[in-house]
Amino acid sequence: DETATPITAPPAGNRLAPNYHPLQVVLAHGEGSWVTDTDGHRYLDFLAGYSALNFGHRHPALVAAAAAQLDRLTLTSRAFDHELLHPFARAVTELTDTQMLLPMNTGVEAVETAVKAARRWGHEVKGVPDGDATIVVAAEAFHGRTTTAVSMSTDPEARGGFGPYTPGFRIVPYDDVDAVDEAIDASTVAVLVEPVQGEAGVRIPAPGYLPRLRELTETAGALLVLDEVQSGLGRTGATLAQHRSGVQADLTTLGKALGGGLLPVSACVGRADVLGVLEPGTHGSTFGGNPLACAVGLAVVDLLRPGDLQARATELGQEMAERLDGLVDEGLLARVRTVGLWAGLDVAPGLGLAGRELCERLARRGLLAKDTHGATVRLSPPLTIDRADLHHGLDVLTEVLQDA
Ligand code: PLP
Repeated sequence: DETATPITAPPAGNRLAPNYHPLQVVLAHGEGSWVTDTDGHRYLDFLAGYSALNFGHRHPALVAAAAAQLDRLTLTSRAFDHELLHPFARAVTELTDTQMLLPMNTGVEAVETAVKAARRWGHEVKGVPDGDATIVVAAEAFHGRTTTAVSMSTDPEARGGFGPYTPGFRIVPYDDVDAVDEAIDASTVAVLVEPVQGEAGVRIPAPGYLPRLRELTETAGALLVLDEVQSGLGRTGATLAQHRSGVQADLTTLGKALGGGLLPVSACVGRADVLGVLEPGTHGSTFGGNPLACAVGLAVVDLLRPGDLQARATELGQEMAERLDGLVDEGLLARVRTVGLWAGLDVAPGLGLAGRELCERLARRGLLAKDTHGATVRLSPPLTIDRADLHHGLDVLTEVLQDA
């Protein structure tokens, strides 16, 4: 039986900090697109770790690469080189058509790296006095949870009570080129946005947005920094979402899927003359670029290099989009936004069903997804999902909405 009644409260004597409100499904095992809870109930994973599990759970090639590396060498710190560090940098930069890579662990660290590199570059190359640099960012963005990342946020939940905030960010509406144009001045070292806003509910900008930001930043002598921690590495049907609009950023942040769902691996990739301003001693991480991370990251690049998974994301994404559009026609969804195998759906207000409640009902029927902001639910199944499983998940969603 694939259905289950999720536990709804944390266990008695809870010792875990309450900074998350998970669906109380207690998972014990995962394989491909499926996970199993401690009672043996199976669930189809339509969240896939917010795209960290683009290749599904425990992809055999990734597990094999990690297992082999566990028998060789796992950590050196950056005090020493290791045999996979330069091959990893070469593989990821070749895959993303970039020149240089700085390895970190989590997505927010990749963003922090981009912010520091942009400021340093602005100071040393553009001549902005140290301390004066500004970076234009977008409202409703999500770049992570550190104090600097929440300083770019407009979400009161993410920000509130965590001040003082890192100065130097100018927040303008997303998908509004004119607002960026107005915000840029001589102090501006970068424009930093997500090519598709994931956390905001898969918000897809107008086709001209990124190309026009590319032009604007070039004219202004500022960097274009694209946060592809969630949108990158196949999710949108392209290796990078920016490539869909023919744009190449100066710096791009990668994370999530770069670790194949096995461990945290992130990177900031981009122009050699920009990342090149970070001399020894200016930035780094004990774990960034560790041998285990590089072994998995290299195997991730091997999975993405042929382009089949990107093509699959496009193809299955079209099927998913057609079915979700059908739910809009039925009046069950108010709106759907899809790109590649990635969808943000807004439940029709008439159903009186919050996103959270929908996700709880889906979980009870064996489908895992996660709400974001009220009535919005994000779907991002593994790119490796079987076509039949994808349609099964969409059947479950349809039934739950029809029963609401
Ligand atoms: N940037 C984007 C666009 C993200 O979606 C996320 C995570 O959801 C992050 C940064 C932060 O990544 P991490 O949670 O690994 O720090």
